[in-house]
Amino acid sequence: MPRIFSGIQPSGELHIGNYLGAVKNWVALQREFESFICIVNYHAITIPYEPADLKRRTHEMAVSLLAAGIDPNTAALFLQSAVPEHTELQWLFNAITPLGELERQTQFKEKSSRLESVPAGILNYPVLQAADILLYHADIVPVGEDQVQHLELSREIARRWNARFGEGYFAEPQARLTPTRRILGLDGQAKMSKSIGNTVALLEEPAAIWEKLRPAVTDPARVRRTDPGNPDVCNIFQLHKAFSDAATVAHVDAQCRSAGWGCIDCKKVLAASMEIELVPIRARAAELAAKPNLVTEALGDGAARARTVAKVTMAEVRERMGLD
Ligand code: SF4
Repeated sequence: MPRIFSGIQPSGELHIGNYLGAVKNWVALQREFESFICIVNYHAITIPYEPADLKRRTHEMAVSLLAAGIDPNTAALFLQSAVPEHTELQWLFNAITPLGELERQTQFKEKSSRLESVPAGILNYPVLQAADILLYHADIVPVGEDQVQHLELSREIARRWNARFGEGYFAEPQARLTPTRRILGLDGQAKMSKSIGNTVALLEEPAAIWEKLRPAVTDPARVRRTDPGNPDVCNIFQLHKAFSDAATVAHVDAQCRSAGWGCIDCKKVLAASMEIELVPIRARAAELAAKPNLVTEALGDGAARARTVAKVTMAEVRERMGLD
């Protein structure tokens, strides 16, 4: 079975942007691929943080992933810090990665330009990412467009390491772009982000979701109820495409273009479609909240499976590098 590696930051409860843009895809892929799904808490500490808060966010992310449909009997779900081989391999990759290549990474330039003092971890972040992926000899990495450059660096590191220590040892991982087009936040402006406050959390109750959907930005040219709208420029329509069935999407398109209904009507139908998908997710999350040992067991089992693979890789890597 080909392998997939996916990493996600421990940012707390998932929002629907993370869910539609990444996690829903992982849930589908876990039946086709041997899946390693890692909550990348080492990546999270390159910016200032509170330990207790990180722990809480990590647990919430694990609950969200399991509730969203990651099946711990199928996929290995684990914390990065539970598999120390990630940082060991990163150190070995650091030794062969030119500084200039890291400084040219777009995300490094963006992040470091906002900081007075730049931690080395921000520079080395993509090297750890390469270690995350190559440790498991992942064939496929599901990524958004903004991660393609980092994956290319992982491929370059694999090529460089192979040329020096063992031709063909690390296969170059391939990107699998997530099928869902990037969905903007409810402000219709920026990518969904908890810090901007333009999201709906995956486990929010219907009343809270409606409070956010009701004022959400639609086609800005549709000023009056009688104005025909253009669903192609409306973010609510993108959400319909993600949550509603094909017949409903066609109905929304027709009603919008003919001014057959108002945006509030349209949003009520969206809220109903979302409920169909979110009700079982909330139910699973409630079960996990009542039995937190299920989360601990899932993470422990996932880490054990991940370490089994990681230990073999590291033994082979140490041997080829003259470190055994
Ligand atoms: Fe958007 Fe629906 Fe309003 Fe059309 S009717 S502009 S798709 S919210």
